Amino acid sequence: NAGSSDAKNLRVKLVLLGDSGVGKSCIVLRFVRGQFDPTSKVTVGASFLSQTIALQDSTTVKFEIWDTAGQERYAALAPLYYRGAAVAVVVYDITSPDSFNKAQYWVKELQKHGSPDIVMALVGNKADLHEKREVPAQDGIEYAEKNGMFFIETSAKTADNINQLFEEIAKRLPRPSP
Ligand code: GDP
Ligand code: MG
Repeated sequence: NAGSSDAKNLRVKLVLLGDSGVGKSCIVLRFVRGQFDPTSKVTVGASFLSQTIALQDSTTVKFEIWDTAGQERYAALAPLYYRGAAVAVVVYDITSPDSFNKAQYWVKELQKHGSPDIVMALVGNKADLHEKREVPAQDGIEYAEKNGMFFIETSAKTADNINQLFEEIAKRLPRPSP
């Protein structure tokens, strides 16, 4: 595990998984920079950003965020990408049932190859597009419950639930003993 983690200050690797186009990079940019750029292109090259949040119990969590460089387009995203990740955020687009199926595929991959104590979040993004919704929130809730995941719907566009997503993850992290 990361050398600088202690009881008060955690440092964790977080990976994002999900179909291309569901909004993974936009979620990260919204969380880290507070921005949404509707013209942003697919990430070129590896993307790595970090953001620290403080919890109410005065602990801090530094997320080291790994965003794919579009490799999610290819079937086998290297397990190297999620190896050692303490957190996996699996994202789908609430207007795309295909992306919801793909999210379930990634959850199974993580269950097979991820760290046994990985904290997983299931995220239905683009919640602002409610008029085009094709995946009922209930489907996400039920799937997440069955798989021991935290579930939330977000909008990187409006910022809805973006900070809450990371705060909830932080609360669920196993704490190292002091
Ligand atoms: P990625 O391939 O999963 O990293 O997806 P991107 O972050 O590149 O986003 C793909 C497209 O979806 C871009 O055109 C974004 O502007 C758009 N997008 C991302 N998040 C949202 C959202 O919450 N709402 C809406 N309406 N569009 C979004
Ligand atoms: Mg991306």
